Amino acid sequence: IPGQKLVLITGCSSGIGLRMAVMLATDEQKRYHVVATMRDLKRKDKLVEAAGDAYGKTLSLAVLDVCNDESVQQCISGIKDRHVDVLINNAGIGLVGPIESIPIEEMKKVFETNFFGVIRMIKEVMPDMKRRKGGHIIVVSSVMGLQGVVFNDVYAASKFAMEGFCESLVVQLLKFNVTLSMIEPGPVHTEFESKMIQDVKQKEYPGADPDTVHYFKNVYLPSSVDIFETLGQTPDDIARVGSQASL
Ligand code: NDP
Repeated sequence: IPGQKLVLITGCSSGIGLRMAVMLATDEQKRYHVVATMRDLKRKDKLVEAAGDAYGKTLSLAVLDVCNDESVQQCISGIKDRHVDVLINNAGIGLVGPIESIPIEEMKKVFETNFFGVIRMIKEVMPDMKRRKGGHIIVVSSVMGLQGVVFNDVYAASKFAMEGFCESLVVQLLKFNVTLSMIEPGPVHTEFESKMIQDVKQKEYPGADPDTVHYFKNVYLPSSVDIFETLGQTPDDIARVGSQASL
């Protein structure tokens, strides 16, 4: 449809990705077509229900595991002419605990998803965006991409790494009129916490108060403001996304 922008979002089975997919697909003024992706379509029901009439019209589904090269290639090549106008890299996993007790394999999974998963996606859409001289790549980082938090060492490192990657890449993309934005949310109530390995025993580590992160609750950084303006939202929508995501 002329004038319609194709937005591809990773990790839409729950949380922030699910809400972003619904908000964008149901925004009648903006005319987005959202390709909401998830690694297992058996988890689609919540999204389909929340999308209502938009499902099958302005919202379609696709399978995508950001840790799998083949899955990423298949997903992008399944899109007509491979034209993605906006890529939202949202899929991510967490890990909390003292590094002595966490197997290196678990730490690698965090980097494989939060860091290489994003790079895999960007590599796949970048050639077309550069050729067409336009596009927008968005990365959901975290306040922990800017500030370490106790026992979140590896998760914070994966997001810090992403910040460095994007800060470097953005310069290269400018020449091609491709925008790269980062979102750095504070705590949002989603399935995130319940899915991750959490190995902090409060009594043994009196300093490990999970509420420490609430310190960041109201911090909105310039890049967050930029992205929400670009999407036609306000920074307050971070909170709105969070509260709706707990549905
Ligand atoms: P959720 O756990 O609710 O959602 C994460 C999504 O990522 C799920 O859809 C999950 O799919 C998906 N995912 C995980 N691994 C992969 C993979 N290999 N390939 C494709 N999808 C995958 O958490 P949130 O919505 O809270 O998190 C979204 C993003 O926001 C993450 O990047 C997170 O780091 C970031 N963030 C979250 C904050 C919070 O407090 N919640 C704060 C700051 C940043 P599946 O259902 O298959 O597991």
